[in-house]
Amino acid sequence: MLTESENSQIDTLFLKLQEGVQRFLGYPIATDFNYELLYRFLQFPLNNIGDPFQDSTYAIGTREFEREVVDFFADIYHAPKDDYWGYVTNGGTEGNLYGLYLARELHRNGIVYFSEDTHYSVNKNVNLLGMRYIMIKSQPSGEIDYDDLRESIRLHRDVPVIIMANIGTTMKEARDDISKIRGILTDLVIQQSYIHSDSAFCGTYAPFIEPKPAFDFADGADSVAVSGHKFVGSPIPCGVVIVKKRNAERIGEGVGYIGCRDTTITGSRNGFTPLVLWYAIKTLGKEGLKKRLNDCLEIAEYAVEAMNRHGIPAWRNPNALTVVLPKVKESIKNKWQLATSDVSHIIVAPGVTKAQIDTLIQDLVGDLNI
Ligand SMILES: *Cc1c(COP(=O)(O)O)cnc(C)c1O
Repeated sequence: MLTESENSQIDTLFLKLQEGVQRFLGYPIATDFNYELLYRFLQFPLNNIGDPFQDSTYAIGTREFEREVVDFFADIYHAPKDDYWGYVTNGGTEGNLYGLYLARELHRNGIVYFSEDTHYSVNKNVNLLGMRYIMIKSQPSGEIDYDDLRESIRLHRDVPVIIMANIGTTMKEARDDISKIRGILTDLVIQQSYIHSDSAFCGTYAPFIEPKPAFDFADGADSVAVSGHKFVGSPIPCGVVIVKKRNAERIGEGVGYIGCRDTTITGSRNGFTPLVLWYAIKTLGKEGLKKRLNDCLEIAEYAVEAMNRHGIPAWRNPNALTVVLPKVKESIKNKWQLATSDVSHIIVAPGVTKAQIDTLIQDLVGDLNI
């Protein structure tokens, strides 16, 4: 039993979260989900330890649901039908780490290229794996500078090329174009290469943008990582990574006592989040995701127009849910939880409403008048 003061401690936390989620505009995180029907599964010690495609003697898990999630994402990413593999991760960072790990196993002495706008997880992962890297300039939009990339690769034509493409940069949601990058590799006759698509935020809706951004296997990616708790939404961070099966087969030790191969980054793996993602893709489907995207795009457009009308020079990249603003002052940053570097942004993730945008604008306009 909790004491009275401990009870009030968690009650206070609950109220704080309930209130904070009303002013949560700076992160690419959906807040409109409801997984009540899955709560009963929290009474089991779920664990999908080992490979999702092999059974383990640890049978309290959700592997068959995880496999359906992997199949769904492999399909929307145009992964080769009989040559894909993947699993539900703890988030985009783990998917990026796994993609880079495969790339390193395939090309031991490769150089990793990524833009200066790339998410901090890439730098961290490259350091963890002890890989050599070259950081490439970004264009003002946040997209990688293809001329700088071409020139940097040209100077190292004898070394395998590993690209961490950014499909939705953190601050401006710019998307690197993987088919353009493939074109550069072809022009320079690069023999050995690997392209990972870091689609943490955009990966769940990029397939439904028209025209489709060049970000998936059809465009030349060798692996795609996405976060599950961002656009889909989840109470627990999660993600999916999809790779080519023939590449994945190069790593993973058989572990006798769990009766299955250890092919993923962590040992124990979340067995609840595959159920969350399964529930989301079953209830939404491709049509539901597309509608979710279109609803958000409409509000993002509304936000830019309304801000511009009030004299705030907000802008967004084509078909982006991220609205970039001049750096806001501390009080507004804290009130609305706005990620801020040299610019600030709001992200119109599912759950964000026009009413919230209107209130934010009132705050911003009040600020401009000071
Ligand atoms: C959020 C994000 C990540 C990290 O994903 P997590 O799920 O937070 O681990 C990596 N790359 C990009 C582009 C992101 O937006």
